[in-house]
Amino acid sequence: MKLVRSVAGVREALMAPREEAMRIGLVPTMGAFHEGHLTLFRTCAGECDVAVASLFVNPAQFGPGEDLERYPRDLEGDMHLAEEAGIDLLFAPSAEEIYPPGFESAVEVGELGKVLEGESRPGHFRGVATVCLKLFNIVQPSVAYFGRKDAQQAAVIRIMLRDLNLPLELRVVPIVRDADGLALSSRNAYLQPDERERALALPRALQAGLEACRAGGGSNSALAAAHRILDAAEGIEVDYLEVADLDGPTLAGAIRVGSTRLIDNVLLDEEAK
Ligand code: AMP
Repeated sequence: MKLVRSVAGVREALMAPREEAMRIGLVPTMGAFHEGHLTLFRTCAGECDVAVASLFVNPAQFGPGEDLERYPRDLEGDMHLAEEAGIDLLFAPSAEEIYPPGFESAVEVGELGKVLEGESRPGHFRGVATVCLKLFNIVQPSVAYFGRKDAQQAAVIRIMLRDLNLPLELRVVPIVRDADGLALSSRNAYLQPDERERALALPRALQAGLEACRAGGGSNSALAAAHRILDAAEGIEVDYLEVADLDGPTLAGAIRVGSTRLIDNVLLDEEAK
């Protein structure tokens, strides 16, 4: 696996594969790799001739007072994991490489960028869409891989690809969970053992919602069932719990456990209203 730190380095490394019309896949990430990332990497490597991952803790998608500074970083460890999972090229730029002096353009995200995560984190999806557009232009992949863990992010990217006529496919990979049901996240590393136990209320609530929906109650009963569990849970603060159309009816929630903010979602059955 090749580690590349510059935009010019990516262009050079991909020149030959592009001339040979090879299929290039891209997995954008912020690092601190876990099995969720590795599943995306393996899927990309299995479907593409050249598997590229980007590792960039994007300041533009963090709000003031969020965890940009303490976000887990481990380039050495990540390089081993990415290589083992089949990544050919890891693009790990500095913030200056992505946002050089004078940088002043951005993607404006519409209504979907203002609800759920977008409401709690103003400007978040503008930062996400802008860096993803830059990564798509730098790598020029045929296909980009995203996780369903960030369902709203994937939906925002899908709309951007359509609206801006970007010539690549989007693949969305299912959520990878720990044995106890907690969705894998780089932010789980912040959790103390007791906080982790409390955090399980979120996947349990979403699962209860899914079951209520499947029992015939539709999205209203899904929401009610999930609320019953989250509202009764101790030691967590519910940021939001809503049903929204995120490439299908989706029960999505965000909670705070101590100083850690976690998100999760389940896709409700298509017939849920
Ligand atoms: P991040 O490094 O957190 O920005 O995540 C990079 C990509 O991995 C995003 O497309 C995420 O949706 C995806 N991802 C993160 N956690 C998971 C997970 N538990 N299951 C599936 N995909 C995930």
